[in-house]
Amino acid sequence: MDAHSLQFLKQLLDSPGPSSYETIPSRVWRSEAKTFAERVDPDISGNSFATLNGDARPRVMLAGHIDEIGVMITYVDDDGFLSFDTIGGWDHQVFVGQRVQLLGKDGVVPGVIGKKAIHLMEKDAREKVSKAEDLWIDIGASNKTEAAARVRVGDSGVLASTVMDFPNGRLVSRSLDNRVGSFVVLEALRLLAKDRGSARVTAAVMTRGEIGYSGGGARSGVRADEADVAIVVDVTHATDYPGVDKRKHGDYKLGGGPVLSRGASMNPLLVDLLVSAAEAEKIPYTLEAAPRGTNTDADNVFNAFKGVATALVSVPLRYMHSPNEMVMLEDLDRTARLLAAVARRITGSTDLIPR
Ligand SMILES: [Zn+2]
Repeated sequence: MDAHSLQFLKQLLDSPGPSSYETIPSRVWRSEAKTFAERVDPDISGNSFATLNGDARPRVMLAGHIDEIGVMITYVDDDGFLSFDTIGGWDHQVFVGQRVQLLGKDGVVPGVIGKKAIHLMEKDAREKVSKAEDLWIDIGASNKTEAAARVRVGDSGVLASTVMDFPNGRLVSRSLDNRVGSFVVLEALRLLAKDRGSARVTAAVMTRGEIGYSGGGARSGVRADEADVAIVVDVTHATDYPGVDKRKHGDYKLGGGPVLSRGASMNPLLVDLLVSAAEAEKIPYTLEAAPRGTNTDADNVFNAFKGVATALVSVPLRYMHSPNEMVMLEDLDRTARLLAAVARRITGSTDLIPR
């Protein structure tokens, strides 16, 4: 990965953007996209699109969700302490002892998550996991009026954890799920800008992927883009750390290359096209089984219109939904190369109807 792309990735990762509040990372993404895409547009759901070969067919969409899990302020008490709820799927054990960045109306407001000190707890309470509802956020306000001048009910926030380089080409950040998907789709478009195929290709970043049970941004985004083919890029669990049962969760490693899903939401011919492109380009990959659903935007795009030929390509990631998610940079490069390679192989005569 070159220095420019790495810097763009780090800027994306450190931009706070919990589900439904993705404007900050989306602006970063669009401004980078404008340096080489023909068109860059946002839509009413907050999704963003960067396009090459605008008038060509078929229309291939490479899509990643740009939001991350977060917290939301639900109540401000008389002493200025903030109650909060979760955005997305949290392990509540993570909250204790964390610092947060709240997206207040006049900018970022730092806070700390409060909990009664261990010395003041009864014996039983020491053993228990604290839920978000038992905790609070302290922004250093001395009363409700002072707190209300900085934050409002409905303001969101993220943990105050910034990106960090780790040895062996690894990167740690709180928002790798799924800023890496947003990054990879644009890097694939950057490769395509230098060496195009004949299809129209859109790199798209969707909002609300972590709360996608209602369709997220993807359900309307695929329609806004009028995609014929969609390749969704998300993260999946690397299972290369202690205590994971590979018989149950499969064998996925950091550095193992992109993970290609088979099954639910997938067009089998598009998956085969990804497999043959990976083999031709000598990109290592693994397969992942999706017998029922994927819990990704793929579930929200494959049945749009009369059906969209859909695939899901995932980056292996450790410690999902923690302040210290970890990926390997090489996997991001390989995933971008694979997407560009497959997009070049899709032409007007590509038949993806399973017959
Ligand atoms: Zn997630």
